Amino acid sequence: MPIATVNPATGETVRTYQPHSPEEVERRIAAAHATFLTYRTTPFDERARLMRRAADLLDEDRDDIARTMTVEMGKTLVAARAEAAKCAKAMRWYADRAERLLADERPADPDVQDSGADSARVVYRPLGPVLAVMPWNFPLWQVVRFAAPALMAGNTGLLKHASNVPQTALYLGELFHRSGFPEGCFQTLLIGSGQVEAVLRDPRVAAATLTGSEPAGRSVASIAGDEVKKTVLELGGSDPYIVMASADLRRAASTAVTARVQNNGQSCIAAKRFIVHADAYDSFAEDFSSRMAALVVGDPLADGTDVGPLATEQGRRDVEELVDDAVAKGAQVLCGGVRPEELQAGWYYRPTVLAGITPEMRIHREEAFGPVATLYRVANVDEAVAVANDTPFGLSSNVWTRDTDEVDRFVRDLQAGGVFVNGMTASHPALPFGGVKRSGYGRELSGHGIKEFCNMTTVWQR
Ligand code: NDP
Repeated sequence: MPIATVNPATGETVRTYQPHSPEEVERRIAAAHATFLTYRTTPFDERARLMRRAADLLDEDRDDIARTMTVEMGKTLVAARAEAAKCAKAMRWYADRAERLLADERPADPDVQDSGADSARVVYRPLGPVLAVMPWNFPLWQVVRFAAPALMAGNTGLLKHASNVPQTALYLGELFHRSGFPEGCFQTLLIGSGQVEAVLRDPRVAAATLTGSEPAGRSVASIAGDEVKKTVLELGGSDPYIVMASADLRRAASTAVTARVQNNGQSCIAAKRFIVHADAYDSFAEDFSSRMAALVVGDPLADGTDVGPLATEQGRRDVEELVDDAVAKGAQVLCGGVRPEELQAGWYYRPTVLAGITPEMRIHREEAFGPVATLYRVANVDEAVAVANDTPFGLSSNVWTRDTDEVDRFVRDLQAGGVFVNGMTASHPALPFGGVKRSGYGRELSGHGIKEFCNMTTVWQR
């Protein structure tokens, strides 16, 4: 894939970039390594000062970088501005808390004395340069939620961003540089996916994090495994959104729309499979599909647009193939299922709701990375859990009910890294984020996330 900005609203190639030469990549890895050797000892308050400066600059740049994101991957300008604001907030969150989150721990267990120690403690030390392979869907946020904790912990970062968001990728490198972080603390590598292996195998690169598709995750994790390097993987999701009979059905339906079409339907934690109790099904299906049909699809830069184009032509083709396969196998189209006739240029697709899903349909098992919802009717909580878990993924889950026994049951049995009750899944710096099964492993954000790229060191002393 060429490294280029191609506007998804028009299909026009805005700008193409030459990948970095092997010599330039070598220079940047060397800088990441050399900088780590000194940066790792900088005090937390100095790192925090730089991180807060980065947050301030990002706030100042918000409108410009939001427009860049919209032109590169098609999210609405409103959503892009919100993403930039969220990133600045997360930077400050870690600037304020990293020292406390990584404070030495002294095990309180009296059995520590049994080990012969007069004292023992756990110290969190940074690992080194971390390679971040990142996707285009939240081109700032996916990177910042890695970079803010990783840099606050004393690591350095090398960003290999998706090839279709080079301007945002370059902006991020400049942002950390302008903020005063030492040269080499955070750098963008303009490289294609074929060059990732060489970077990952470089002995100076300590670990890797990847957010993206399962094949990309599998490849990076297997190379890292071969090199015995730590990885965190955040892959796809096909999150269930369960609506039980006792739920507030109107709120459940209106939130369902946002949960499905956020980011033009291209979010790993978007709700994708809507599993509805039989007693609520007809009412929910009617309300949800009429709200989905009423969404305004169009220019992501325009005020009032709800859903912009898909980020790539291939992405739209993938979604169309999933819908067409389901319809050919008997799914009913409650709304959408087609491109908008009035939008000939660009990679638009109408918000779609499909009912009558069966296990033979590809969409039952695969992730629909676009504004397409599938509806399932279930008879009881057992069936809701069974349908929800009948997927290779396990990122997050959403449940709507007023019954506390049902809540307990879902929390016990849903195979996912999150259970959001009477609301929709969203990431927040204070809450761990990540999945199980084919959705990956490890956690981002919160105190758990910042420790992923630390050497948890036992200090035993007599
Ligand atoms: P990819 O997984 O292909 O891309 C994500 C990142 O991984 C990009 O930086 C990409 O680089 C890189 N990459 C791709 N293949 C490899 C590889 N073999 N080795 C190393 N790095 C690699 O996502 P796509 O954009 O192709 O989207 C495909 C599907 O992935 C979506 O339909 C969706 O299901 C899922 N996805 C999930 C996301 C999430 O948030 N969990 C985000 C984006 C996609 P390059 O761009 O140069 O290929």
